[in-house]
Formats: sequence, structure tokens, C-alpha cells
Amino acid sequence: MQLLFGFILAILIAFLAYKAHSLNKSGALAAAFTGTIIFGIGGWQWAILLLTFFITSSVLSRSFKKRKQGLDEKFSKGHERDAGQVFGNGGLATAFAALHFFFPNEIWTWLGFAAALAAVNADTWGTELGVLNPHPPRMITDLTKVVEKGTSGGISLIGTFASLAGSALIGILAASLHPTTDSVSTGLNTSLSIFIIVTLAGLAGSLFDSFLGATVQAMYFCPTDNKETEKHPLHTCGTPTTQIRGWTWLDNDWVNFACSAFGVFGVVVALINMLYL
Ligand SMILES: [Zn+2]
Repeated sequence: MQLLFGFILAILIAFLAYKAHSLNKSGALAAAFTGTIIFGIGGWQWAILLLTFFITSSVLSRSFKKRKQGLDEKFSKGHERDAGQVFGNGGLATAFAALHFFFPNEIWTWLGFAAALAAVNADTWGTELGVLNPHPPRMITDLTKVVEKGTSGGISLIGTFASLAGSALIGILAASLHPTTDSVSTGLNTSLSIFIIVTLAGLAGSLFDSFLGATVQAMYFCPTDNKETEKHPLHTCGTPTTQIRGWTWLDNDWVNFACSAFGVFGVVVALINMLYL
């Protein structure tokens, strides 16, 4: 019954997002799938976390348009997310919702789900609000190196605080809505510890995202604009781009997935610490 209700809700939201141009066709299908799993297996608490990420990132991607003008690198895909972006951002969270079906009474599925979402939420908030920083960002691997706004791997003070806020919002929701009381957890049932773990894990995930952007993410070069870009095979100007560094397979969608995975890794580290130390 809940699965059917989740399916209907997911279809409805995916359809509205498609109409609002937040998702393209493949993105809407992917969102209907992930939404069905998360709403249908998880339930309303899980739905609130997912929708918080989805709604705030959609709103932020439409905000501060003037500030984003000319910053084609991170923002050129427009508002419409495709299936790759949906799975890159929400794939791991969906997997934890599916695991909740097999481990309904254990809290780690909820923590993994929340950390995965906190990480991509932190990353999105940091990217979208980072443009408000008055100064250009600096490379995360070399803070003395100033780079253009929108450069992968660039971080700023406002962007990092925005990431922390985005992560903390998911952390607060994860702490106040956590649906199970778990036998494994010692002291973990306290909302404060859930809040701290999820928030820090999410922030760490978003920093890891920047780190990958600065190091091994596939980067290309556009000869027309004489600049580095994530875009391939064509730059936003239409010119074919050539790879200059990074791992070819590690595109932006996989970097987002890695961002959420690193958030989950943060939770695993925290749990091991609490259980065994
Ligand atoms: Zn170009």
C-alpha cells in the first residue's frame, strides 16, 4: 500500500518538476524511480529529506541569476537535470532506502541515506551560493591559488559556509525525524549525535567533491574560449573540447556520486568510533 502511494507521489512530483523544467524527460523518469523507492519503502520521513534536497536545490539553481551570468562552467546545464544527474545525486540515497526494506529496524540505513543526501545538498548549496562570495575562489588543493568563479575544485568562505548550512539542514531533519530506535546504537539514539554525524559527514562529502574537481575529475579545454571546462564533447559555445587532465570516466555525475559516497564513509567512520572505541 505504501509502495503504491509512494509510486503515485513520485510520479506526481516528477511530472511537476518536468513541467517546471527542473527535470528533463530522462531526469523525470529517474526521479520517478528513485522517488518510488524512497517514498514507498522509506515513508514520509525519508520523503521529507529527499524533497528538502530536491526543492532547495531547484530553487537555488534559479536564484542569483545575475551573479551566475558568464559562469557557464557549473551552471550551463541550465535548470533541467537529466537521469545522470538524478542518479549521481540520489543514487546512493536510493540504495539505502532499498536496504531499509531488508533491515527495517536498524538505524544505519537511515544514517547512510541522510549522509548521502547531506553531502549532495552541501555540494549544491556551496556551488549555488558560492557565487555570492565577493572574492574569487581558491583551489582546495592549494589555497594560495586564486581561480575563476565556477572552476571545479575552487572553494570560498561563503561557499563553504553554505555547504555547512546545507548539510546542517539535512542533519537537523535527520535528527528530528529518525524513524527507528536501534538496538545496535549506544548513545546513537540521541538526536544531537545524529545531527553532528550527518552534518559533518555531509560537509566532508562536499569538500571531497571539490578535492576530486581539483585533482582527478575529467577536465577538458575549449580552444575558442581558451579555458578549462567540465564539458565534453562540446563546450557551451559549441566548440569540441579536448581532455587535458583527470580520469576520462570521472565526469561530474560520478563526482557527485563520490561526494555522497564520501558522506556515507564519514558515517561509517563515526559508527566504528562509537561502537569500538
Ligand atoms: Zn568554448
